[in-house]
Amino acid sequence: MNTPRLIDGKAAAARVLIEVRKDVERLRAQDIQPALAVILVGSDPASQVYVRNKILRAEEVGIRSLEHRLGTDTSTEQLLDLIARLNADGSIHGILLQLPLPAQVDELRALQAIVPGKDVDGFHSENVGGLSQGRTVLAPCTPSGCLYLLEQTCGDLRGKHAVVIGRSNIVGKPMAALLLKADCSVTVLHSRSPDPQALCRQADIVIAAVGRPRLIDASWLKPGAVVIDVGINRIDDAGRSRLVGDVDFDSALPQVAAITPVPGGVGPMTIAFLMKNTVTAALMQQHSLSEAVCHSIS
Ligand code: NAD
Repeated sequence: MNTPRLIDGKAAAARVLIEVRKDVERLRAQDIQPALAVILVGSDPASQVYVRNKILRAEEVGIRSLEHRLGTDTSTEQLLDLIARLNADGSIHGILLQLPLPAQVDELRALQAIVPGKDVDGFHSENVGGLSQGRTVLAPCTPSGCLYLLEQTCGDLRGKHAVVIGRSNIVGKPMAALLLKADCSVTVLHSRSPDPQALCRQADIVIAAVGRPRLIDASWLKPGAVVIDVGINRIDDAGRSRLVGDVDFDSALPQVAAITPVPGGVGPMTIAFLMKNTVTAALMQQHSLSEAVCHSIS
């Protein structure tokens, strides 16, 4: 077998961001400044870091970012008020609600309140439904980033057998929908799947989105499989805290054709696709606006 390839998520994300910047410049040339509103409710430390990184990345590619911080005791109604204002604001193209929300806030109502055209996380049921129908919609950022890495690594995905481990609404299910759209044969494994190793060993492509450190070792993998590790797990390693994926990288490496490392694999792709979705949302809004103008003229 050839030497296994490391799939470099940082380099791939940089390529996506170069394209995003070009789109931003094209929009600016038409007097449209793409803008992303990020809502952070409460003071979860990890969420604060994620929001800061998203805002920094937006600034780097020329997207205007607006941060809305609401207190830990915010009610659902107060959050819905803010979302309604951002929905109505024509200068805002994308709205991101950072999760998790404090317990008293109704997460589903809040996510459903974001108009689908500004739903850059792709969590609104209209976008979820559109994706499962194979339509082009704003799709969740992490699985979109995984699909990009797979297309770059494997080329044509048609007919490949992909196994997705995990069925969350954020990663596993939209990943399966995107792979189906790319004409893969898709198997989804989850915590109730009997003998997941045996099923996984049949896969040409494995996407691990479980949240269990190093669960998947070489015994789960067919020789020559391509492995995308979505998991981000903090472990204590001989007194040192470090991040590992859902895949046991050292065990898997000699078995695979290509694999993403953790960190430096899927992680950077998520933010890159958030930026891409923001620009796509701006383009879609520009398009529907010009269509509306054409209709009113005709
Ligand atoms: P989740 O907890 O919502 O879902 C985990 C899924 O794994 C569930 O569907 C469950 O059925 C399945 N599962 C649990 N144990 C299993 C087992 N033994 N065998 C097979 N399936 C099993 O998690 P999530 O939000 O989908 O996140 C998964 C991982 O991906 C986490 O480590 C998370 O931190 C990471 N993540 C990374 C990014 C990124 O940007 N790289 C984004 C989102 C999530």
